[in-house]
Amino acid sequence: MVKTFPLPKLGEGEVLVKIEAAGVCGSDVHMWEGRDPRIRLPMILGHEGVGEIAEMKGEKKDIDGIPLKIGDKVLWNRSVTCGHCYFCKVKMEPSLCPNRKVYGIHTSCAEPPYLTGNYAEYLLLAREIDIFKIESGVDPQILVPASCSGATAAHAFDLSQMEPGDSVLVQGVGPLGIFAVALARSFGASQIIAIGGTEERLKMCKTFGASLLLNRHHLSKEERKEAVMEVTHGLGVDVAFEMAGEPEALKECISLVRPGGACISAGFGAPHGIVEIDCYHDLDRKNLRLQGVWASEVRHTHMALKLTLNRIQDFTKLITHRFPLDQANDAIRVMKTKEAVKAVLLPHE
Ligand SMILES: [Zn+2]
Ligand SMILES: [Zn+2]
Repeated sequence: MVKTFPLPKLGEGEVLVKIEAAGVCGSDVHMWEGRDPRIRLPMILGHEGVGEIAEMKGEKKDIDGIPLKIGDKVLWNRSVTCGHCYFCKVKMEPSLCPNRKVYGIHTSCAEPPYLTGNYAEYLLLAREIDIFKIESGVDPQILVPASCSGATAAHAFDLSQMEPGDSVLVQGVGPLGIFAVALARSFGASQIIAIGGTEERLKMCKTFGASLLLNRHHLSKEERKEAVMEVTHGLGVDVAFEMAGEPEALKECISLVRPGGACISAGFGAPHGIVEIDCYHDLDRKNLRLQGVWASEVRHTHMALKLTLNRIQDFTKLITHRFPLDQANDAIRVMKTKEAVKAVLLPHE
């Protein structure tokens, strides 16, 4: 439903952006279905976006120190953290900050400044938000996925301890998995195996550097295992990335990692099932490193943004569907059915 709100009066350091494109994230589907415990209704959905600075109060620089002005195209880090808690200051893991707030997830539009989600014509950025200026000549909508799926995938690689030459398995071929394939390629993986259930998305993984595509609708679990073992000399992969958010996918990742390897899980953005593991064979006997990944930090948005800019032609193909604001429900639907690889809303078109 499209609603009208008054434009806010800006406080010191705040920036009002005119949203040029808002990304529909897999998590938005969960929130739309009421499966995400973080949301407070009523709300404006949308935590991925790019836009143009429409108004700003006071001086402000982007993350590279470039002074910002009205009319600049920008992308921003999607969350604010407190900067003072145990996780922010001592453990340097701000994505775990208990005070972390994300636009379009934790924010309600019941009270001022109302405009706190990206599925809107305008969004008010708080003083603490880190901003990335987008160079002219780049179509901003292509950069949208970098702000969530891209950043989360970059966080997963940051925690993976992957080394050049490693064999990598990516389980799940949505935007998160596709970014993982692109990152594995740039980190120098020797093998990139993608497991997914959508042919079009698997083909996109090939564009981004996957060396082996396994469609789980065409190959049984045993056949997939055989294929992975064949290209890894019977060992299993060095690092497996679970990017699907399905318990079965995580189980399969664990079973396909070599002894001493790592399994990195970033797919579970909302509660979604339980996995039973064979602690002797799959965990201890294997020296398995099982690593979870929650959200991302500013440095990961930076990594995802630069990666996207480096491969702008390929990432252009990621945006398969575009909708006006009043068709937001259709945009979410095509993400849910996996008809789209990535859908964006264009509020001003
Ligand atoms: Zn904190
Ligand atoms: Zn997201």
